[in-house]
Amino acid sequence: MTTLTLVRGDITRQSVDAIVNAANSSLLGGGGVDGAIHRRGGPAILAECRALRAARYGRGLPTGQAVATTAGDLDARWVIHTVGPVYRGADSDPSLLASCYRESLRVADELGARTVAFPAISTGVYGWPLEDAARIALEAVRQADTAVGEVRFVLFDDRAYAAFAERIG
Ligand code: ADP
Repeated sequence: MTTLTLVRGDITRQSVDAIVNAANSSLLGGGGVDGAIHRRGGPAILAECRALRAARYGRGLPTGQAVATTAGDLDARWVIHTVGPVYRGADSDPSLLASCYRESLRVADELGARTVAFPAISTGVYGWPLEDAARIALEAVRQADTAVGEVRFVLFDDRAYAAFAERIG
């Protein structure tokens, strides 16, 4: 049984087993959540991301997939990096966004993580409309077959919080 919880706040301040990063495929850092995680988590995360690029993801991490590293100085054991799809209007594929949540939970299960914090993937620079992204995120997590006990959505502002709160039921 997985409990879904909502928090308005900064994902880098959460105490959980795993923090999910809305990364880009380079795995080498960026803005938004990604920048905040690397800033607060320190250089160990980037060092592991570089090693992953060199060993397994020479062309970058594909959209919809997930991979774990240390959480460095964050109050978590792991960061799970996933790459959300860029929103392209009617051509956007919601299954890729759902895949980010499903694959992150699959990686969490492999690690033995029981509490996992997610940001609203793709709703920042990648432009996915919040209400639609919230619906996709909640449905993907509800449908996931996972041993994770708590999935915590960490929403950065009131609008994002409201989008999830209205759909969590
Ligand atoms: P993407 O590139 O997948 O769109 P972003 O990091 O640009 O990712 O944004 C994803 C969501 O995370 C946005 O709703 C943004 O407001 C939010 N966000 C930005 N910084 C943080 C943070 N420190 N903690 C939680 N959410 C954040």
